[in-house]
Amino acid sequence: MVLATTRTVTVSIDGQQITVPDGTTIWAAAKAAGVDIPVLCHDERYDPVGVCRMCVVDVGARAFAAACVRPCEEGMEVKTATPDVERSRATLTELLLADQPPADRDPKQTTTGDNELLALAQRYGVTREGGQCGPGGATPLEPPAGSRPRSSVTGPWPLSSGRGTDTSNPVIAVDHDACILCDRCVRACDDIQGNDVIGRSGKGAATRIAFDLNDPMGKSSCVTCGECVAACPTGALTNKPIRNIPIRPRTELDQVDSVCPYCGVGCALTYHVDRERGAIAYAEGRDQPGSKSRLCVKGRYGWDYAASPQRLTTPLIRKDSAYPKGALSADVRGEMNRPPGENGSGPAGDGRKGGKEGERRRRRRPGGLVDYAEVLPHFREATWEEALELVARRLTGIYADSGPGAIAGFGSAKCSNEEAYLFQKLIRTGFHTNNVDHCTRLCHASSVAALFEGIGSGAVSTTYGDVVNADVAIVTGSNPTANHPVASSFFKQARRNGTTIIYIDPRADKMSDHADIFCQLKPGTDVAFYNGIMHEVIRLGLIDAGFVARRTSNYDALASNVANYPPERAEQITGVPADVIRRVARAWGEARAGVIFWGMGISQHTTGTDNARCLIAMCAITGNVGRPGSGLHPLRGQNNVQGASDMGLIPMFYPDYKKADDPEVRARFEGLWDTQDLDPKRGLTVTEIIGSVLKGGVRGMYMMGENPFLSDPNINKVRKALSALDFLVVQDIFLTETAEFADVILPATSYLEKDGTYTNTDRRVQLGRKVLDPPGQARADWEVVQDLANRIGLDWNYASPREIFEEIVSVMASYQNLSYDNLGLTGKLYPNPDPEHSDGTVVMFGERFNTDDGLAHLVPAEWLPAKELPSPEYPFVLNTGRLLQHWHTGSMTRRSFALDAISPRAEVYVNPDDAAELGLADGDMAQVTSRRGTIELATRISHREARGNCFIPFHFREAAANLLTIDEIDPVGKIPEFKFCAVRIERAPSGDR
Ligand code: SF4
Ligand code: SF4
Repeated sequence: MVLATTRTVTVSIDGQQITVPDGTTIWAAAKAAGVDIPVLCHDERYDPVGVCRMCVVDVGARAFAAACVRPCEEGMEVKTATPDVERSRATLTELLLADQPPADRDPKQTTTGDNELLALAQRYGVTREGGQCGPGGATPLEPPAGSRPRSSVTGPWPLSSGRGTDTSNPVIAVDHDACILCDRCVRACDDIQGNDVIGRSGKGAATRIAFDLNDPMGKSSCVTCGECVAACPTGALTNKPIRNIPIRPRTELDQVDSVCPYCGVGCALTYHVDRERGAIAYAEGRDQPGSKSRLCVKGRYGWDYAASPQRLTTPLIRKDSAYPKGALSADVRGEMNRPPGENGSGPAGDGRKGGKEGERRRRRRPGGLVDYAEVLPHFREATWEEALELVARRLTGIYADSGPGAIAGFGSAKCSNEEAYLFQKLIRTGFHTNNVDHCTRLCHASSVAALFEGIGSGAVSTTYGDVVNADVAIVTGSNPTANHPVASSFFKQARRNGTTIIYIDPRADKMSDHADIFCQLKPGTDVAFYNGIMHEVIRLGLIDAGFVARRTSNYDALASNVANYPPERAEQITGVPADVIRRVARAWGEARAGVIFWGMGISQHTTGTDNARCLIAMCAITGNVGRPGSGLHPLRGQNNVQGASDMGLIPMFYPDYKKADDPEVRARFEGLWDTQDLDPKRGLTVTEIIGSVLKGGVRGMYMMGENPFLSDPNINKVRKALSALDFLVVQDIFLTETAEFADVILPATSYLEKDGTYTNTDRRVQLGRKVLDPPGQARADWEVVQDLANRIGLDWNYASPREIFEEIVSVMASYQNLSYDNLGLTGKLYPNPDPEHSDGTVVMFGERFNTDDGLAHLVPAEWLPAKELPSPEYPFVLNTGRLLQHWHTGSMTRRSFALDAISPRAEVYVNPDDAAELGLADGDMAQVTSRRGTIELATRISHREARGNCFIPFHFREAAANLLTIDEIDPVGKIPEFKFCAVRIERAPSGDR
């Protein structure tokens, strides 16, 4: 490793003089001098261990030195490739190769062609069949001292030590016989991903890597991130083929550099594409400052959804017989969750009832995916021409009859910036309404509202990677090991390097295992907790008085409010002991650089904006914004929720967060877009649009890639609203639950089948590149939006996403200096000071905030209880969220082999003591009921839940968590209270497993 130190040493490497910082290893110095020293156990990303001895060099001493661990010394003369050194390496290679299993052991062709041991064998002329022939095939090599002479690696030494194989993981195969115990996988799992799964077991020749306590990999705590596979130099850990696409040598595959389509971390990756089969063979991480070649299970193994046979491939129009409208499947009608004998809500007389049929289906519990045989007969195929003409005629008809307020559009944070931009432009200029929104409303709307009010910008003030510069990091209301796994690896790594991690959450998620202080507060008590912290910070005199005086306003009001929250009062409300609150306050107040990362546990409350206001105040009063290692970071959920919001896919802002109800802004966009009569008032949000439909306001909707049936709160209400729409067009890649209510369904290309830019949680704008051809007649969303725009009279003529991006940059100041050409392979953070800048801006607000006066506006918040508290009838608090393996409404992840195999069923997570009282064992079917509905799902005994709380992921249509949730919203951010409602848990009537 090359160290950052001022002292240097000068060494000679193969006669070349080189000066390096003191402490630099010989291997690193040689690399810097352009000299390659072969390694097996070493990888620059891990701490060196020097166990394999492949990198030995001659330093003039009695024994060779391992270059990967031996530091350079002043005047040292290093010879990296003497005949003796090369002989030693060749002999070592031969010995290692001798223990390898036969090359044809794996009949499935799972080699990527980058087996480093085989590459060394080739380099040293060692073959399994022909034995050793020395470097360059010249001098026969001596066998190692004490060993028997041999002529071939398949000769007298045992072929295999018989340590066995492990195929228990759905997508990773372990061949212990191919393992050379180099520990690269151990360090990849521990040091890079922070998962701490792999160790060693056994002695002598029986020694092997072990998962947890020598469990099968698939039964261990392994999270299938694949980092160990990427690290393995011998093929002991390999990817299994997915969907029978063989993993061939990379030289036989095409490489496409792109970005993961799942979460807001936006990891850079390369897809290896089998063009003959038109499919992805495997994916691997790619270096980029925010992901450093890491991936989680979704990015590495969750891409095959695009090859699902359930892809929509042709436009569909609802048949006359399927009116009046209603849900078409038993799951979506809610019959799976309805007690026997109760009728369904499908169109009258069509036989789609609950009762015995519902009970039969309920017992069968098909779950998972939509049954196309049940739904597709209600649609007929159409041409694009017919379908788009119908959409244009019906939407313009409703607009003509009822005005702009009768139209609304839901875009998607899964689509590209270009598509989000065009979609909001279509709704605004084609239908003259600001009724356009997307799932940011369900995610961080309250955070954005508070950030705009407090610091004048909704984006993060620093990157998650900047945690490396923090000495205290608070992670709160977030489950990053599941929702932002690669970001969480940066947090875990920072802690190993000395950053204090304080984790605050009602659930003892995995992050709590990596925290210095964990506060398991009661749900919905965040304001009281943070007011208690600020009370103590102020009492201890730990505020940054200079920063408060120069860069904030309203401090006195804040201080007087938090004076009412001494730690003892905060303890009463939050359940966190006062002493722990004091400890957190001291750590935060004394931090030289402190940063706060938060998730939807903060935002998805009726007090979400107040929660975020407290976090902003926490940073502002301690001067923790605008410097490296300090700041505010709401971890954004979807891969492009930041970008979609930037593009103006929200009802209150035009692109670049320009206020929709500001006449000057409106006039500017009328000029830019060559249009008139833009809507002078803010539009309706997602939840308000659903309410408006029920009141007869909004009558026609265009949904591009959004699935509100599962993602919105109180599904029974959403079902009624979707059924009540006069016209609904759904554009998607699968027949989603929402599409069952559509008049027209348009088949779109998936992420993998188009080009576009995506903006991650760090403000990093990256290029997603087309990997595969679209199936059937599926078209890119931006093309469909443009086609429809032209049919309703707009004169659009964009030739490519690049051209749309150029317009975006010309309209949005924050995207200045970005272009398709300078985004390159790693993207750039916005704001980007100049086109040639290496990576854009990491830390923002160093001098002033984006508010009108440049100050941070401190807003006091009073704690208020959640809207629906537990009662004797509904004694549990329900928390909803995501799992590591699944994404949102599961439309992609449940069609991914790996993700579905690892996490196939809906479960309610219950504290062991609560489960015991309820008579529920792990796997028993439970019935969970709120005032709005009932679902049945398996019980999961979880020590991570506090007593009286339960957790249900919202990905599963057959046990839709949002049937239970409450649709009360935060008054400012308009975000629903997904994180708190009262439920009852019972053993399901069937009670089976
Ligand atoms: S897949 Fe990831 S979590 Fe599992 S053992 Fe390998 S590195 Fe560790
Ligand atoms: S952390 Fe997020 S972006 Fe990275 S691989 Fe996982 S899901 Fe994809």
